[in-house]
Amino acid sequence: MNIQTKYSKITACLDMAGCPNRCKHCWLGHFPNGNLSEADLRFVAQQFRPFTSCLMVDDWYREPDFHDKYKERWELCGSLSDKPRTHFELLSVWRLVRDPEYVKWLSSLGLKSAQLTLFGGEKTTDHYTGRKNAYREILEAIDILIDNHISVRIQIFLNQENIDEMPFIDTLITKLQLEERCSEFDEKFSCFIHQGSCDGENEKLYHIRVTPEEVRKIPKQLAEYTLKHFHKENLIDVFGQTEQELYQTLISDNSTASYVTDEPVFYVDSRFNVYPNITCTYPFWRLGNLKTDGAEKVLENYAKSRSLAQSVRLNVPVCELVKAQGDPTSQKLFEKSDYINYLLNTYCRSKI
Ligand code: SF4
Repeated sequence: MNIQTKYSKITACLDMAGCPNRCKHCWLGHFPNGNLSEADLRFVAQQFRPFTSCLMVDDWYREPDFHDKYKERWELCGSLSDKPRTHFELLSVWRLVRDPEYVKWLSSLGLKSAQLTLFGGEKTTDHYTGRKNAYREILEAIDILIDNHISVRIQIFLNQENIDEMPFIDTLITKLQLEERCSEFDEKFSCFIHQGSCDGENEKLYHIRVTPEEVRKIPKQLAEYTLKHFHKENLIDVFGQTEQELYQTLISDNSTASYVTDEPVFYVDSRFNVYPNITCTYPFWRLGNLKTDGAEKVLENYAKSRSLAQSVRLNVPVCELVKAQGDPTSQKLFEKSDYINYLLNTYCRSKI
C-alpha cells in the first residue's frame, strides 16, 4: 500500500435507520431511511479495523436512537469501539415522546443536557422540521427532559422567512420558565440562534438566507443567550460576514487546502457509500463503497484527495471558486469556512 496505512483514530458512522424528520435546514440532505442490521454494523467496523489502533463506531449520523433497538445498538457500538463513548447532547424527540424508557436510559448514561430545535411557532416549526406535530412533540420533550433533570438547550435556525417569529420563541422561553426550571436541579438552560451552514437542504434556502437586517431584529433576550452560548461580544461575530465582504477578501486569496487528517470521521450511508464528514453527502464527495471497493480503496481515495470535491479544494485556489460561484453584491451572512464549503459544492456541481 502506498497510502498511510494507520490512522491515529478513525470514526465510522453508519446511517442504519435514518431519521423521522425532513428538516429544511438539514446539512446532511434528505435520503430514504435505511434498515440495516447489526451484521452490517459489524461489517463496517471490520472494514476499518486494520487501518487504525483507535476505531470508534456509531450506528447513526442522522437521528440518534431512532431505531427500536437503540439500547442494543449502543452496546454493540461500544463493543466495536476502542474507547468509552459518551452520548451526544442530541437525541430523538420522536422517541422521547413515544417510549417512556428512553429518557430513563439517557439519564442512566449520564446525559445532563440535550439540544432541541425550534424555527418559530407551531406551523413554522412543523414546516421546517418536515413533520406534522413536531412542535407539540418538542414542547412535550422539554417537559420530559426537565422532569428527569436533563437541561434543555434550544437551537433556533434563522432566515428571512421566520425572523418575525423570533419574538414568539422569546416569549415562549420566558413563559415556560426554562431558566428557572433547569436551575432547580443545578443545570443551566441555554439557547442560541444562528443561520446554519449552506449545504444539504439548507443550501436550497440560500435565497432567504439571513442578512444584517434580520440580525438587527433578533429580540434582546435571544441575542443575550446567543452571545453567552458562543462566548462572543457581538451578534455579527456569530453570524459572520456578508457574502459581499467575503467575496472582496477571498478574490485575492490564492490558498488551497487539504481535508485529510490523521483522525478522519467517515459517514457511511445505507448503501455503504463513504464520505468524509465535511459537508453534505453529495456524490462529488463520495470516496467509494465498502462493499464493492473495500476500506483500503476508500482510504486511499481519501488520502489522495481523489473525490472531485477534495481534489478541487486541493488544486483550485479559493479566488477561482469565489470568482466562479460568488455573488459580489450579496448581503447574505456566512461564517467563512461555511462560505468556502458552499462555493466548493456549487463549483463541483457545475463541473458534473
Ligand atoms: S437535521 Fe437532523 S433531525 Fe433534521 S432531517 Fe437532518 S438528520 Fe434529521
